[in-house]
Amino acid sequence: MIVERIWTGNAYRNYNYLIACPESGEALAIDPVDHQKCLTAARAKGWEITQILNTHEHHDHIGGNDAVVAATGAKVIAHHRAGARIGGVDRGVKAGDVIKVGKTVELECLDTPGHTMCHICLRSHTEQPALFSGDTLFNAGAGNCHNGGSAEALYGSFVDQLAKLPDNTRVYPGHDYIENNLRFTLARESDNAAAMALLSDVVGQNPKKAPVTTLGQEKQINTFLRLSSPSVIAGLRKVFPDLPEKPDSKTVFIKLRELRNTW
Ligand SMILES: [Zn+2]
Repeated sequence: MIVERIWTGNAYRNYNYLIACPESGEALAIDPVDHQKCLTAARAKGWEITQILNTHEHHDHIGGNDAVVAATGAKVIAHHRAGARIGGVDRGVKAGDVIKVGKTVELECLDTPGHTMCHICLRSHTEQPALFSGDTLFNAGAGNCHNGGSAEALYGSFVDQLAKLPDNTRVYPGHDYIENNLRFTLARESDNAAAMALLSDVVGQNPKKAPVTTLGQEKQINTFLRLSSPSVIAGLRKVFPDLPEKPDSKTVFIKLRELRNTW
């Protein structure tokens, strides 16, 4: 499996991805909103884009579909309930469905509601596993829930699914928000040495070269995966004095998401 991360450079800071089979040269484009950059990258590599996967229905993820389909004839894949919102979907997928790319690549679909209620993440079972997490899990952060989502559902996706993936899973999200997210983690937990160290690496860095984190690293630097950290809870109680002494992790997650909305 070859992963090509494409930095769009647009105002929303989107990342697009091409995932290619090294044997056949067939490729899957994930959320190819910058269709020109995706088509150019595929051409340069000698790859043929045969499928498009939309992680969810937001315009900055689906806006390149028509142009890529027109240029390549690729089939569009999305959550089985997202079709009405996306249009032109050839295949609706559910949890556990597998997307094959060429001869060698298999990606498992995870149904991960929260950012929207029709959100798919893709997981590879390669030697070093990979997670294409759309707007659910960002490097050092979590997706927002105010455009058709639910913080409770996002909590469920984090705790019941994403946090259980192997620690060496590489995390490939739909946007580059790592610097702001690390600053948020440090605002919640100023003594987080791992977040501090990574922030000094990423400040002012070209997003083309931004690090790809692993899930194990996320558990150190992503406040949304540190729900039982005493300093995260102590910091939250300063902002929300009504928070119980030992809040459950769902309450902590929802309060963190609420804070991040206005941070
Ligand atoms: Zn979105």
